[in-house]
Amino acid sequence: MRNQRYDKYNLSVQRPHLVLIGAGASRAAFPNGEKYRLRLPLMNDFFDIVEGLSDYLEKHGIGYKNKNFEDLYSSMYENSKYNEIRTNIEEIVYNYFGRMELPNEPTLYDHLILSMTGRDAIATFNWDPFIGQAMCRNYKRVGGNNNLPRPIYLHGNTAVGVCTRHRQVQVGPKGIICRKCRKRLEKSKLLYPIEKKNYNSDPFIKSSWHDVRSYLQDAFMFTIFGYGAPSSDVEAIKLLQEGWGNKYQRVMEEIEVIDILEEDLLCEKWGTFIHSHHYSTHKDFYLSSIARFGRRSCDAQFQRIYNCIELVDNSLPKYANWDELDEWLKPLLEEENTKRERRN
Ligand SMILES: [Zn+2]
Repeated sequence: MRNQRYDKYNLSVQRPHLVLIGAGASRAAFPNGEKYRLRLPLMNDFFDIVEGLSDYLEKHGIGYKNKNFEDLYSSMYENSKYNEIRTNIEEIVYNYFGRMELPNEPTLYDHLILSMTGRDAIATFNWDPFIGQAMCRNYKRVGGNNNLPRPIYLHGNTAVGVCTRHRQVQVGPKGIICRKCRKRLEKSKLLYPIEKKNYNSDPFIKSSWHDVRSYLQDAFMFTIFGYGAPSSDVEAIKLLQEGWGNKYQRVMEEIEVIDILEEDLLCEKWGTFIHSHHYSTHKDFYLSSIARFGRRSCDAQFQRIYNCIELVDNSLPKYANWDELDEWLKPLLEEENTKRERRN
């Protein structure tokens, strides 16, 4: 293997890097809670963490102890006598996630979106607003939204507003005006954990699933970050697999899993996606190719596989302040701009 510095990267890889994120990513970003110390729940500690939920259930005599959220919610969904209670639970959940905010200093979410480019995409199962907020506060930093990854919301999102009056669903930050009909965007619906989710019932969620499958088909790299593929997501995994296709047709692509579980378990879980040795697992986002080869993950992978060139890390500065992050970004953005000018 030869070594080369990052400024010799081949920027010709036009295929995207798709990152799929789940609740574990937000927990990893904010182990002690977000800006206001609101903690990020997983399915098995949901009732302990989402404020107001256990009080509400207790008041209505609904046993929730030792149950996870998806099991309880699924069982209520099947019985119409719980419809009103279910609607109230949904409101409590929406309000909890909806009032979350990114802390003022750079966070893992800022690092994630700044480490990817406009050809890439981040598909999230999470209801929390962090991807949207990170996009809003960083797009100027990289010269516009076109230089940031495309966000895709697979189960709806509390940061997002939508207008479904048009053939192409209009999406933007919650509360702004639709640029087509000038009406205020409506809150995105959240898709709750039931076994038979109808991904086609809501136009916004339907279009998100169309987009993620299209990115999966094109992707050169696919990273799964903090997503545990819970039992209520059987249908989601099936759709993702359809998008990725048969692993024997993806022999040059690379899969990366960022998760605290051991490698054996992760390989078992994602075995139908992984071809042979074309994968890596990391317990920490900052050890992944996204953070090690910021904005150049696919290029680094391409050089390694096709040209046997091992690239030198250009690791994202984890503890940098905003100015230091800008310094790190500057040569990368300049290189991208030069390439773009040459192409045009
Ligand atoms: Zn509209």
